[in-house]
Amino acid sequence: MQRFYFDHNATTPVAPEVLETMVACLGQVYGNASSIHHFGQAAKQRLELARRQTAALIGCDPREIVFVSGGTEADNLALFGTVRNGARSSRHVITTAIEHPAVLNACGQLEREGVTATYVRAGSNGIVDPDDIRRALRADTVLVSVMHANNELGTVQPLAEIAAITRAAGVYLHADGVQATGKISVNVNALGVDLYSMSGHKIYAPKGIGALYVRRGTRLRATMFGGHHERDRRAGTENVPGATAFGSAAELAGSRLETESGRLSALRDRLESAILERIPHTGVSGNRAARTPNTTNIYFDGLEGEALVIALDLRGYAVSSGAACSSGAVEPSHVLTAIGLPVERARASIRFSLGSSNTVEQIDALVAAVEAAVAHLRKLSPVAV
Ligand code: PLP
Repeated sequence: MQRFYFDHNATTPVAPEVLETMVACLGQVYGNASSIHHFGQAAKQRLELARRQTAALIGCDPREIVFVSGGTEADNLALFGTVRNGARSSRHVITTAIEHPAVLNACGQLEREGVTATYVRAGSNGIVDPDDIRRALRADTVLVSVMHANNELGTVQPLAEIAAITRAAGVYLHADGVQATGKISVNVNALGVDLYSMSGHKIYAPKGIGALYVRRGTRLRATMFGGHHERDRRAGTENVPGATAFGSAAELAGSRLETESGRLSALRDRLESAILERIPHTGVSGNRAARTPNTTNIYFDGLEGEALVIALDLRGYAVSSGAACSSGAVEPSHVLTAIGLPVERARASIRFSLGSSNTVEQIDALVAAVEAAVAHLRKLSPVAV
């Protein structure tokens, strides 16, 4: 059976160009980038090339890039690094209810350490109102963390407007850019963010590498202690092959951003309109205009998203329900419930996230498979629609 992948927000395959660059690096460049001899300097050169390539994707100075192990570490370093650094006795952070667990659970830990956190809601369109951030600010607020693009809905947050508010208040702004980098154009200076997280495996590089942009002058305390790597911001011998892959993927993403975003949004729109037209009792969640080009989240009333994921997998199509399975019970997505979807509708939702290998033929085949699977599941479902 042929299998097709529509779950690129979960992870992406490594691009052939990236793999080639990384394998060459693994085979040839084994020095420690901190060593002063030839082998070390060859590694250092590869690392610095990767830093320049990464910086170019988001319009910053290479010295503002800190390589880390992935999006989760980038988010943790941004949050703990800035909040724990504060000299104030009372500290407050603001984030949103639709963040990834890498931010939400880091905030939870900060709360256990005595920090106060405010979780701003997003509207039913999946977008945060900058005025809600303004209203949540307090005299002791040290950090605002708002994701750039949401992983489940694709909705893009008004970061520049939020940055105008945080700047005026003298508060740092962190953005989790894991789902935005490589999909939409990002310029950290135009956005006005102070910290920006990225992850390799979402942009066709492997798992285990990511980067945090740290605006020059931002006071950041390291969260791991060891050698003086990454300008004292992240200790540990540098993952040169990983960084090389990240740099290569960043360059590739930058070079094909425009064509790929047009191609993917056309495919996504084709998928969306075919499903909405051909399958009754369906709808799209979140704002359809301010979205990453590859993502759509569709509900199919009257059935369980998990059951549809399995039914589609059996037909060779990989999609995601966005729901989390904790202790055997399937919890509805916190993002979908936070934007006001009733629990049954949140449970009946599927995220389709497209990527480089998807074609028109695959989309048409996917629509037919979804139509057949939904009809079958609805026939079995005790809930009438
Ligand atoms: N932030 C967002 C928005 C994500 O979608 C993800 C991964 O799904 C992460 C952070 C975590 O990134 P990583 O898997 O690289 O740790």
